[in-house]
Amino acid sequence: MTDRADQDPTRGGGAQALARVTFLGTGTSHGVPMIGCACAVCRSTDPHDKRLRPSIYVDVPDRAKILIDTTPDLRQQALAHDIRRVDAILFTHGHADHVLGLDEVRRFNHLQGTSIPCYANGVTWDTLRRVFYYIFDGKPRLGGGVPQLEAHEIVAPLTIGGVRVRPVPLWHGTMPILGFRFGTFAYLTDCNRIADDAWDVIEGVETLVIDALRDKPHTTHFTVGEALEVVARLKPARAYMTHMTHDLGHAATNARLPPGVELAYDGLVLDVRVDVE
Ligand SMILES: [Zn+2]
Ligand SMILES: [Zn+2]
Ligand SMILES: [Zn+2]
Repeated sequence: MTDRADQDPTRGGGAQALARVTFLGTGTSHGVPMIGCACAVCRSTDPHDKRLRPSIYVDVPDRAKILIDTTPDLRQQALAHDIRRVDAILFTHGHADHVLGLDEVRRFNHLQGTSIPCYANGVTWDTLRRVFYYIFDGKPRLGGGVPQLEAHEIVAPLTIGGVRVRPVPLWHGTMPILGFRFGTFAYLTDCNRIADDAWDVIEGVETLVIDALRDKPHTTHFTVGEALEVVARLKPARAYMTHMTHDLGHAATNARLPPGVELAYDGLVLDVRVDVE
C-alpha cells in the first residue's frame, strides 16, 4: 500500500526561508561525454561540458534536505558534493536516468539511522515497485542490504519537514510526470508540454529550471527554442536549462541565449526562497 499521508492541500501563511539548490547532474540519459563519442562537446576540456544524469539537491537549513531523483550517478554525485543527509526523495518520473541509483540511499539510512520517505505520482510508483521489487514488496531479504524507504503517493501539495512542495503536472511525451515548485523556484525536467492546469501552479516563479534537450525536435523533451517559449510566457527573473545532450556545448549555447537564461551545469548552486510553515 502506498501511504497517502503527509499531503497538505492547504496553502497560505506566506512564510519563506532561504534554501540552497545544488545541481548534481544536468545531462541527458546518456550523460555527457557519451560512451564512445568523439564529438567536440564530448571531448571538451571545459568542466561545464561534463554532465552527469539529471538531479538536484534542495537544502533548506533547519528543515529538510530533499533529493530530487536518484540517478545512476548518485554515488558519485553524493561524494562530489559531500552530501551526508537525505530527509526525503521526490521522484519526477520512473525513467532509468532518474531512478537507477535508488539503492545508493542505503548509506543515508545507515548514517541517519532512519528510513527515508519517497514521494512520486502513481505512474512512477508502478515503475518503482517493479524495478525495485526487492525494496517495496515487504518480504525479508537474506543478508539485508536493502534500502529502508517509505512510499508516499503525491496527490496534492505536500509538506516535507516544514517545506511546502507543490507538484507541477507535466507531459513527457504521453507520460504524466511531475515537476516541483518550492516557493520562488520551480524544477521542470523531462517534459515537452506543460499541462494546462500547471500554468497556474508555476505562475510568478522567479527561478525556473526547464528541460532543453537540444535544438532538434524530440517526442518527449523541449528543445532550446520550445524552452525559451515557456520562459517568455512565464517571465521568471532567471531561467536555467537542464537535461542537455552533447549537441549543446556550454559556452557556445550560452552565447546565443537571451539575457537571464543560461544552461545549468553540474555543481551550479542557486540560493532561492522556498515556502515553509
Ligand atoms: Zn531524463
Ligand atoms: Zn558527443
Ligand atoms: Zn525521462
